[in-house]
Amino acid sequence: MIASWSPKLLDVEGAVLDVVRAPHPVLATEGALVDPLDPSMIQLAADLVATMRVSPGCVGLAAPQVGVAAQMFSLDVSDHPKTRTCHGVFVLCNAVVVEASRNEKAREGCMSVPDFTGDVKRATRLTVRGVLPGTTDPLTITTDAFEARALQHEIDHCNGKLFLDRVAGAHAVYPRKTYQ
Ligand SMILES: [Zn+2]
Repeated sequence: MIASWSPKLLDVEGAVLDVVRAPHPVLATEGALVDPLDPSMIQLAADLVATMRVSPGCVGLAAPQVGVAAQMFSLDVSDHPKTRTCHGVFVLCNAVVVEASRNEKAREGCMSVPDFTGDVKRATRLTVRGVLPGTTDPLTITTDAFEARALQHEIDHCNGKLFLDRVAGAHAVYPRKTYQ
């Protein structure tokens, strides 16, 4: 857990927003850096958590997925069976990868690409730096396994990339019937 932070600290009610789907252009747009103290960004952070919460199987949601080209995402891999290290529910602004291990291939999905999954290579161990909304001090998160994969997927969204941009080719993309 990130002991010093919870969505309650945002002190605003999150709204459930519509999730946009590929090929919406916002999903291919580089997100702007955000001011983590800006009230509209604090509202967006609460909205991301609220939208993630009502979406079955959703372990992370980035601002571009709700139509905002900004460097912010929510994450919560607490309930996923492939999670090892877990920091609970949090929102991160302006996140960058500062250290990454070797890659491992695994199946990945996305609420903005509901009809497909794909095999994507991601670092299995990762250090990320960013800022929690409502704070100013940079925070460093080191994690592994599923949380590391989810962080890389969300940071990609903030930079206008989908998992489909990272698959080795059409042979590594699979259709699916229900989002989970
Ligand atoms: Zn996604």
